[in-house]
Amino acid sequence: MKDVITIDGPSGSGKGTISKLVAKKLGYSYLDTGALYRAVAWKAREENISTDDDKALELLTGTIRIEFKEEKIFADGNDISSAIRTAEIGEMSSRVSARPVVRAGLFNIQRDICLNGKVVIEGRDAGTTIVPESENKFFLDANVEERARRRFEELKLKDPDIILETTIEDIKKRDLRDSSRGTSPLQKTDDMIHIDSTSMTIEEVVNEIVRSLKHP
Ligand code: C5P
Repeated sequence: MKDVITIDGPSGSGKGTISKLVAKKLGYSYLDTGALYRAVAWKAREENISTDDDKALELLTGTIRIEFKEEKIFADGNDISSAIRTAEIGEMSSRVSARPVVRAGLFNIQRDICLNGKVVIEGRDAGTTIVPESENKFFLDANVEERARRRFEELKLKDPDIILETTIEDIKKRDLRDSSRGTSPLQKTDDMIHIDSTSMTIEEVVNEIVRSLKHP
């Protein structure tokens, strides 16, 4: 399958920015799978559902209506684009994403989108679980300090009191949770092209991906 480009990687690796630009350059649509987990976390918070209550999470994941419209994300009709970009929802989404019932519920949504168009999909398991048959798979990484710095700059816009050391610790915790969970852990496989973006510009990373595509 050549019409789906998968970009996996840890928090703060730049997947979001890069995937959007690659999609734009190629005229593909862009699927931010982290936003799906964040939407589930947002809804769980709204409904006071604990992040380990599998029964309630299964029901929530099966019934939530998630829509992407004009670069915005809606959950059950609410524009949650800004509300999901907080440190709290980031942390909660990492917890709900470790629950197999949530991953199973979101699998079909992601797979359907990928099978019905030209898509750049970014996440943690796009190339290993959602579309393993893709022939254009990438793993984007950067060292932990650089990833924390990027996330810190993003969060600071909303929370001026945020502390860099806390962001570094949060990223480390999420790295560990994302790569050690039993279902679909974050994994770099041999069939992915590995790009370390620590000292690369955004443009360099985008060009590297586009240049490496099997059939652009
Ligand atoms: O990429 P983003 O930070 O928005 O993702 C939020 C959380 O959702 C991550 O910390 C990760 O735990 C989880 N996630 C996942 N699988 C994906 C995308 C995100 O487990 N495909």
